[in-house]
Amino acid sequence: MTITYRKALDEANKIIRKSGKESSAAKLLLLHFSRLEPNELYLKYENTMPSSDYEAFIEAVLAHTQKNIPVQHLIGYVYFYGYKFIVNEDVLIPRFETEELVANVLMLYDEYFAGKKIDLVDIGTGSGCLAITIKKEEPENIVAVATDISSDALKTAELNARNLEADIEFLTGDMLEPLNGRKFDIIVSNPPYIPESEIVDSIIYDNEPHVALFGGEDGLRFYREILFKAHIILKDKAIIAFEHGYDKAEELRSIAKHHFPNALIYTLKDMQEKDRMTFVIVGFQDKLEESD
Ligand code: GLN
Repeated sequence: MTITYRKALDEANKIIRKSGKESSAAKLLLLHFSRLEPNELYLKYENTMPSSDYEAFIEAVLAHTQKNIPVQHLIGYVYFYGYKFIVNEDVLIPRFETEELVANVLMLYDEYFAGKKIDLVDIGTGSGCLAITIKKEEPENIVAVATDISSDALKTAELNARNLEADIEFLTGDMLEPLNGRKFDIIVSNPPYIPESEIVDSIIYDNEPHVALFGGEDGLRFYREILFKAHIILKDKAIIAFEHGYDKAEELRSIAKHHFPNALIYTLKDMQEKDRMTFVIVGFQDKLEESD
């Protein structure tokens, strides 16, 4: 029996549709198991798929639908901001929304620090996606440190930094604790922010590290912790950039305002039109007045 790439994809789509899972899985898995680039796959759509590739592909489709394993774990990587990141059960799988945080931090760098050499820390780096991507995009000007409480997560982050040739200093420890005595221009963080009592989709709950998902009773535990101590590790003029739960912006801004009463604090929506990022601009009063 010969199977074309088209037939293989149809077959996988059928299985995935029946399971109620997201349809994008079939295409991602086919690209991986065919070892073809997207443009090659379209050209070879009516060609025969080697049977060993087909079998591996269908096996992965079934592992996804029957065993509830995320596509990113089956193929072992995910693209984030155009860079290929290794992922596994030790790290949160980087999400699309987080790419928007990267883009905004890079814009803020240009606006507030253009051309200057600065120190940035990514707190709770997980796969390393925030620190590594920002460093790749601004390699000369940003010195990047990244922390995580999970040494297993940091092993993966270090592997990603090596593969992507990003020079990052990784430190193991809880929140700001490993940063004692150091000062930064930018703090960036996508801490665990799902409220403990929230029911999480089983594909997330069963496969991603809970230490990277849950942020205390109301999901704000780690923001409180960071904002409470941030002044210790921030320079006089500095920026804090957070990703957060879509319904937490107002509360988060009020916590930030409490610790940084003179800061400029604002929230931006992600591409799904959800409040997703909040920025705290500290000590730039002169610049802000200038632009009024
Ligand atoms: N955005 C993730 C989710 O909804 C949670 C990430 C986080 O807690 N930082 O699954």
